[in-house]
Amino acid sequence: MGGDCLNVGCVPSKTLLAAVRGGLTFALAMQRVRAVRARLARHDSVERYTQAGVDVFLGQGSFSNAHEIRVGEAMLRTRRTVIATGARARMPPLPGLEEITPLSNETVFDLTEQPRRLAVLGAGPVGCELAQAFARLGTQVELLELGSQVLPQDEPEAGQRVADALVRDGVRLRLGARVTLIEYGDFECPSCKVAAATPKLLLERFPNKIRFIYRHFPLEEAHPHALMAAEASEAAAAQGKFWQMHDHLFQNQAHLKDKDLYRYAVDLGLDLARYTAEMDDHIYLQKVREHMEGARRSHIRATPTFFIDGVVQDISFGMKALHDAVAAAVTRGG
Ligand SMILES: Cc1cc2nc3c(=O)[nH]c(=O)nc-3n(C[C@H](O)[C@H](O)[C@H](O)COP(=O)(O)OP(=O)(O)OC[C@H]3O[C@@H](n4cnc5c(N)ncnc54)[C@H](O)[C@@H]3O)c2cc1C
Repeated sequence: MGGDCLNVGCVPSKTLLAAVRGGLTFALAMQRVRAVRARLARHDSVERYTQAGVDVFLGQGSFSNAHEIRVGEAMLRTRRTVIATGARARMPPLPGLEEITPLSNETVFDLTEQPRRLAVLGAGPVGCELAQAFARLGTQVELLELGSQVLPQDEPEAGQRVADALVRDGVRLRLGARVTLIEYGDFECPSCKVAAATPKLLLERFPNKIRFIYRHFPLEEAHPHALMAAEASEAAAAQGKFWQMHDHLFQNQAHLKDKDLYRYAVDLGLDLARYTAEMDDHIYLQKVREHMEGARRSHIRATPTFFIDGVVQDISFGMKALHDAVAAAVTRGG
């Protein structure tokens, strides 16, 4: 009981800030967080709600149909239902993120050792308060924000005041990073071939404003050669020729058998002994599979799928929508 606010939100975060302001060390501040959470938990307890006349069922609720909810063994019949299942920190589809175990508000308050360095992604209210608390505890904190100001949803003046306070506490701000465009693509997918020109046009139109990242999502059942083509592109990347191979694969989409891929390696002037050894050993398969896993975690089902600064884009009415969305993001970023 208690939801985010008690367990992983308002209560622990504000307690941590107060503890730090009171001069407590990391270990004592975290101890205080746990103690305050435990003390306040009775206000959100089953007993308290039961006494107030609420029937509480603990467990994962799921709908059997529009008027029946199952929780454990119990089946509840309802005429109307309020769904108040809360929110979660979204893991943005950033390259490399799935290879580590990043903290979120669900785990950061359980730390038992003070991190020496901490990167906080997002300078909204939650990111700012975490950055401030850890900086005041002596952790070296970098606060990264895609927008051009701290608290990007708020008035610039408010953002500036908070930014000044963070800098005084020793937080290093990294603002206004470039717009990040990510494509999940499949070299055997005809729609990806059609879409391939758009990121290039955008990079030309907005030089130095956009970062484009291609990630692999070969749809293996439909496209038998796509996985190998993805591996070949990574083998080319290892020799500094990813984009040349990317273009070659799309231009020759109907011919992606192993012997064709080898021919493209020859065309690009790759070190063929290295290319062959790496392809035979499937050196890059793990990397491609990690991209695919990332795609699944982001609930991607089709290719191409584009993200702008972590937000999935609707391109069902064509690539102009993507073009316009990138232009808007660049304008917002200043
Ligand atoms: C670090 C941090 C600091 C914050 N500080 C503040 C602050 O200072 N002031 C402020 O106003 N707000 C703050 N917030 C925001 C505040 O915590 C949330 O807005 C609030 O908790 C949302 O409440 P909720 O009831 O909608 O959802 P939640 O608190 O997320 O509760 C949803 C509950 O539903 C449960 N649930 C989910 N799925 C199911 C299911 N299928 N069946 C049964 N149960 C389910 C979850 O386990 C959870 O307990 C903060 C948030 C964070 C992360």
